[in-house]
Amino acid sequence: MKRFHIVLLAVFFFLAISALVIIQLQWISSVVSAEDQQFRFSINEALKEVVTELEKTETYNRIMSEINPAEAAAPSDESISLTAQESAAARLLEKYGFDPDTRSVIINRAGRTYVLNSESLEQESFFDDTESEEQTLTVGAATRMTNKIISIENIVSRILHETPPLRDRFTADELNALIRRSLNDVGIHIDYECAVRGDYGGLIYRTANYSESSGSNKYLRQMFPNDPVPGNNILTIYFPGEEQYKFSHITFMAVSSMLIVLLLILLATGTFIVIFRQKKISEIRSDFINNMTHELKTPIATISLASQMLADETIPEGSRKTPELALVINEESTRLKVLVEKVLQTAIFEKARIELNKKQTDVHSVILKAVDAFKLQVNGRGGTISTFLDAPDPEVVIDEQNFFNVILNLIDNALKYTVGTPEITLTTSGYHKGVVITVSDNGIGIPREHLKHIFEKFYRVPAGNTHNIKGFGLGLSYVKTIIEEHHGTIRVESQVSKGTKIIIHLPNRQPK
Ligand code: ADP
Repeated sequence: MKRFHIVLLAVFFFLAISALVIIQLQWISSVVSAEDQQFRFSINEALKEVVTELEKTETYNRIMSEINPAEAAAPSDESISLTAQESAAARLLEKYGFDPDTRSVIINRAGRTYVLNSESLEQESFFDDTESEEQTLTVGAATRMTNKIISIENIVSRILHETPPLRDRFTADELNALIRRSLNDVGIHIDYECAVRGDYGGLIYRTANYSESSGSNKYLRQMFPNDPVPGNNILTIYFPGEEQYKFSHITFMAVSSMLIVLLLILLATGTFIVIFRQKKISEIRSDFINNMTHELKTPIATISLASQMLADETIPEGSRKTPELALVINEESTRLKVLVEKVLQTAIFEKARIELNKKQTDVHSVILKAVDAFKLQVNGRGGTISTFLDAPDPEVVIDEQNFFNVILNLIDNALKYTVGTPEITLTTSGYHKGVVITVSDNGIGIPREHLKHIFEKFYRVPAGNTHNIKGFGLGLSYVKTIIEEHHGTIRVESQVSKGTKIIIHLPNRQPK
């Protein structure tokens, strides 16, 4: 898959996720506005109920006080319950034969019940369990009936024409009980604060924590709207926990869906990072193989040419230059060895764990062997490679082959990253139960900001490329892996244009 295709895939994926997020946000906002509307609607219904009930209760109380001022319930601090209303109605029916439900007057005479409708004065039989024949009232009875209706209408008319002051028309307990009941009826069970204002905005009543400057939505309703001359009586109510209450239902859904989207984004990002990394590895691997086969060709060709010359009998013995040809073969075979080792080293990155064959070894002999392998090359560039092996106890438990590769890699880097005449120095010294090995050069050095990355797999200092030095960024990563497998540590000191020093601490004994 080409890089472009992966990028395209990633772009489409993130576009799709963005579209999903936008749709989700829109969905959340529409749910929020629906919740808001539902809340407003419920509050409206509850307030309508409060105002209607308040008016009804007042009417009953007023009728009662007109009929029997002594028995009339003075505005008490108790809310009017349904039974109180029922008993008021019962008293009306008992005393005056007036049924507030049917708005009719009921008269019992000679075992018969007559129902008189106030609008039409029409008589009809009612509750008659013997026979349901039409009953005709005498003219006298009709007159008495009319008088009764007139007396009731007088009561009603007084109620209509006399409006008491607002503060006498309800009590705080009555109002609060009504509000609570109406809110419960519409399924709203949160705390509220309310206030009542009369004409000219005068405050008649407010709950203890009511605040004019509260940030919550305020809901207003006119009280006693059916007064003949309706006053400017306003009931204001608000809910301090309104926002929390409204959105408590959707918070869980919104948060969990957003978390899922976030998880999706993280998973996708992780997947694309892995894809890119794998792609880079496979590119590097094929680059590596191409370069390696190319580099292998040169020493093989040189060796074959030199050996041909040695074997060529047509060339007289004296002019064959045997020692020089042998030197060339030796030099080129060392180069081959290093190259082959590099190919083998890359194999360690394929395996989860490297199998090491650790044995008691004299580390100085391994270092000297590696130095020998490079002597010709260093001398060929007019440089020197010196050793100061002063460690008092050079016996270490190591995998000789891999440790040899480590030193080869370090010397190879020292040579590679030195532009002028190479001065390479290898030293050993002792430390508590271990050996310190250093490899230093007078090369191009490593800028400070790259120092902490050079042991990472595939990491190459960009300046290395400007010097056109070939490499894959695998050498030091291999070195670090092997040193750590030996329970040692590795670090670097470097100064640009001055040189680089690699310092290894290796314990004499491996922990069990
Ligand atoms: P490479 O194959 O590129 O040499 P390494 O892992 O061996 O990979 O080294 C990583 C990078 O560290 C190199 O690309 C180089 O820039 C820097 N580096 C390593 N050794 C030296 C050194 N002795 N002097 C300067 N730079 C070095």
